[in-house]
Amino acid sequence: MGTLERFAEAKLAALAERQLRRTVHETAPCGAVRVKRNGRPLISFCSNDYLNLSQHPAVKRAAVEATERWGAGAGASRLVTGNHPLFAELEGRLARLKGTDDACVFGSGYLANLGIVPSLVGKGDLIVADELSHACLRAGAALSRSRVEIFRHNDLDHVEALLTTHRAGHERALLLTDGVFSMDGDLAPVAALAEIAAAHDTWLMTDDAHGVGVVGGGRGSSFVGGGKAEVPLQMGTLSKAVGSYGGYLCAAQPVIDLIRTRARPFIYSTGLPPGAVAASIAALDLIANDPDLVAAPLRKAALFCARLNLPAPESCIVPILLGAPERALAASRLLEDEGFLVAAIRPPTVPEGTARLRLTFSAGHDDADIARLADIVRDRILDRDAR
Ligand SMILES: *Cc1c(COP(=O)(O)O)cnc(C)c1O
Repeated sequence: MGTLERFAEAKLAALAERQLRRTVHETAPCGAVRVKRNGRPLISFCSNDYLNLSQHPAVKRAAVEATERWGAGAGASRLVTGNHPLFAELEGRLARLKGTDDACVFGSGYLANLGIVPSLVGKGDLIVADELSHACLRAGAALSRSRVEIFRHNDLDHVEALLTTHRAGHERALLLTDGVFSMDGDLAPVAALAEIAAAHDTWLMTDDAHGVGVVGGGRGSSFVGGGKAEVPLQMGTLSKAVGSYGGYLCAAQPVIDLIRTRARPFIYSTGLPPGAVAASIAALDLIANDPDLVAAPLRKAALFCARLNLPAPESCIVPILLGAPERALAASRLLEDEGFLVAAIRPPTVPEGTARLRLTFSAGHDDADIARLADIVRDRILDRDAR
């Protein structure tokens, strides 16, 4: 065995020792919320397909028809020949949903953040980011080579203090946060952050991967409570509630034009396949026109929380904090034995000591299944803590 293989094996052994080795499991979707794993049918409470649109007949049909008409792949970067006719329609719809001039679609949400952040700030600039911001916002920040200051989760006083101390010494500044936090399910105080950012000539960027289609009437975290927070950079993904694939930024025209000119994952990566773009367009139509569907996931999460006497959820993501990775893994295995697929989330995805079950609720979940799941969590997972 060469040094490469020995390195990989030693690294894996060390991770396995700490219960942090990860593996992929083949999981076949069977309709909206059911999957098959190792030949067993399970009800999944760990998909981000909150509206089950990946399985919606109109969405699937749009993907098939676009594939038949335009082909399976885009063939090149959008700046070369990959800008097939569906992109303009999708970007127009996203801009309307978010109330901006225009939008720019990327290959994925991760790629979007790697592209957007370094296009706007660089050496000599400042980034202030929530400590629980998604890994790809942090990766975009690192790539930009700006000074990065991290604030305590949702702590407005800390944001204010960091900007008061550091803003003046830097030319441009960006404030980064998730709109809905991916592993905790809580909302960022977007309107208050927008005010602080504006007062310090700092550009607020929200990553609304888990907000669009679910909160703010489906328009995302800038629209929670009925108003519209002044967020000049609204980023998100098409791969969660939209049920397809791809990432986007919604912003003012010159900002989008700059992103299309300078964002490296936009320039140097192939455009999304026509089928994925068409599926997103069809899904956004459903989100814009079916308020009952949009309201359903949060209602389902609320049923679960009420049965466990947990605080009312702010999104359809509900974490059950268990602490040690092995406890989260054991809880996940117990639920799998009961027919439920619920992911154990471990560091470094979440901070040390906060391994958890992460439950996600979708429009298609059955109320009786939610009740049975809640009872098992209460009686066989959390009960240990009560004693
Ligand atoms: C999933 C996620 C992303 C990445 O989006 P993809 O389209 O899956 O690459 C970005 N930000 C947050 C907060 C996410 O949860």
